[in-house]
Amino acid sequence: MDINVIVLGDGIGGIVTANLLRKKAQRDRLSLNIRLVGNSPVHTYQPGMLFLPFRKPGYRDLSDIQKATQQFIAPGVEYVCETIEAIDTDQRTVTTNEQTLRYDWLVVALGCRTLVDSIDGLREQWGKTAQGFYTPDSAMQLAVALENFEGGNLLIDVAETPIKCPVAPVEFAFLADEYLRKRGIRNKTRITYVTPMGGAFTRPVCDRFLTYLLKEKDIYITTDSYLSSVTDKTISCANGRDLEYDLLVVIPPHEGSDLIEDAGLGDGLGYGRTDKQTLKSVKAERVFFVGDNSNVPTSKAGSVAHFQAEVVVHNLLLEIAGKDAEAYADGHANCFIETGNSKAVLVDFNYDIQPLPGKFPLPVIGPMSLLTETRLNHLGKLAFKHVYWNLLLPARPIPLVGTRMKMTGKDRHALDIT
Ligand SMILES: Cc1cc2nc3c(=O)[nH]c(=O)nc-3n(C[C@H](O)[C@H](O)[C@H](O)COP(=O)(O)OP(=O)(O)OC[C@H]3O[C@@H](n4cnc5c(N)ncnc54)[C@H](O)[C@@H]3O)c2cc1C
Repeated sequence: MDINVIVLGDGIGGIVTANLLRKKAQRDRLSLNIRLVGNSPVHTYQPGMLFLPFRKPGYRDLSDIQKATQQFIAPGVEYVCETIEAIDTDQRTVTTNEQTLRYDWLVVALGCRTLVDSIDGLREQWGKTAQGFYTPDSAMQLAVALENFEGGNLLIDVAETPIKCPVAPVEFAFLADEYLRKRGIRNKTRITYVTPMGGAFTRPVCDRFLTYLLKEKDIYITTDSYLSSVTDKTISCANGRDLEYDLLVVIPPHEGSDLIEDAGLGDGLGYGRTDKQTLKSVKAERVFFVGDNSNVPTSKAGSVAHFQAEVVVHNLLLEIAGKDAEAYADGHANCFIETGNSKAVLVDFNYDIQPLPGKFPLPVIGPMSLLTETRLNHLGKLAFKHVYWNLLLPARPIPLVGTRMKMTGKDRHALDIT
C-alpha cells in the first residue's frame, strides 16, 4: 500500500519539499502518495516585493513577480488547492474546507502572516499615511505613495521581531535613498530606520557593516524601539519615544499559523516547536516543519526554507525506511542585500557562524563577495529571480550551493575584532 505524505502550504517551502520528495522517491523506486495542500493558486516571488515600490525594471507590476502555482508542481505530486482547517496528529488527519485526508507523514510549511490590526491605529492609517511592502498589494500601493511623496520625514519602521527576511527593511532604506536622490528630493528628506533590535542586524560583524552603510548614506537609525501606536502624523514606541513622519513604511508584526497552535504543535505565536537539527516537531511524531512557520533560531528566508526542505526530505526518507532522522540542519541562510546604486552585499551564515567577509561560493575566486558591496552581487540578486523560478521551485540542484554552510572562502579573522 502507498505511504501517504502530506505537505501543508504551497509557498516555496512546501513546493520544494513536495517536488524534491517526488524526485528522491522515484530514484529509490519508493511508492509514495504525495499531496501538496495550499490555497495560493498564484505564487508570489516575495523578494520582488522589495523592488515593486520603486518600479525597478522587471518589477513594475504584480505580473512581474507572480505565476500560476500549478506549473511548478512536479508530475506525481497531487496539488490540492483547498483551505486547511485542522490538523489532528492523534488521528493523523488534515481537514480542509472540502475533505479529510489521512497521512503517514506530515510536513508543515504554512509560512507566517503580517498583522496590521495588532498595532493601535495602524489599520486606520494603512494605505493612507502608513504603507507597507510585505504583501503584493501593499507594495503596489507604496509605489504610488512614493511617487506622490514630496519630501519630509520618511520613517521605515520594523514593529516587532521576528519578521520575514530581516534585512529587507534595511534594503528598502538603501533603495529609498537612491530613489529620492534620483528624484532630486533627497536633500528635503530625512530617512530614519526604526527597529526593535539593538542595531541593523542581529549579529555583530554584519551589524557593523550595515550600520556603516546607513551612516554613509545619511540614513538615521533608532534602535530598541517596539512600535506601540500610530496616528496620521506620529508613531509611538513602547520605550516612550515618539517620532513624527510624513510617510511611514511599516513592517507589521508577524505571527505563524493558528492551525499549528490549535493542533498543540506551537510555541504560542503560531510557530511550530521544532528540533533545530532534525526539523522534527518536538510535540508529535511523524511531523516535520519547513520554512517560516518553524521556530528554529535562523532567518525566516526563502533560502532557509529551501535548505530545510532538503534536510526534511532526507530525514523523511530515513524514517520511512525505519531509521532515525539525522541531526543535519545547521540553520544555513544566504541572501543578497541590495544596497542601492546597482550594488549589493552577499551574506552566508548559519546557527553558529555569523555573516563574515570573504568569497562565495568558491574560495579566492568567488565570484561573489561576502559582506562587501559589489555590482556582481547586485547582478546576482537580479539573477536570483530566474534561479527561483527555474531551479529552486522545481527542486533542481543549485550549482556549488550546499544544504549546509561551508567555511571555505570565509575570513575567520573578522571574528577577532568583534
Ligand atoms: C519583502 C520581502 C523580501 C524578501 N526577500 C527575500 C530574499 O531576498 N531572500 C530570501 O531568501 N527570502 C526573502 N524573503 C522571505 C521569503 O520570501 C520567505 O521566507 C519564504 O517565502 C517563506 O516560505 P514558506 O514556504 O515558509 O512560507 P510562505 O511562502 O508564506 O508559504 C506558506 C503557504 O501556506 C499557505 N497557507 C497558509 N495557511 C493556509 C491554510 N490555512 N490553508 C491552505 N494554505 C495555507 C499560504 O497560502 C502560502 O502559500 C522576503 C520576504 C519579503 C516579504
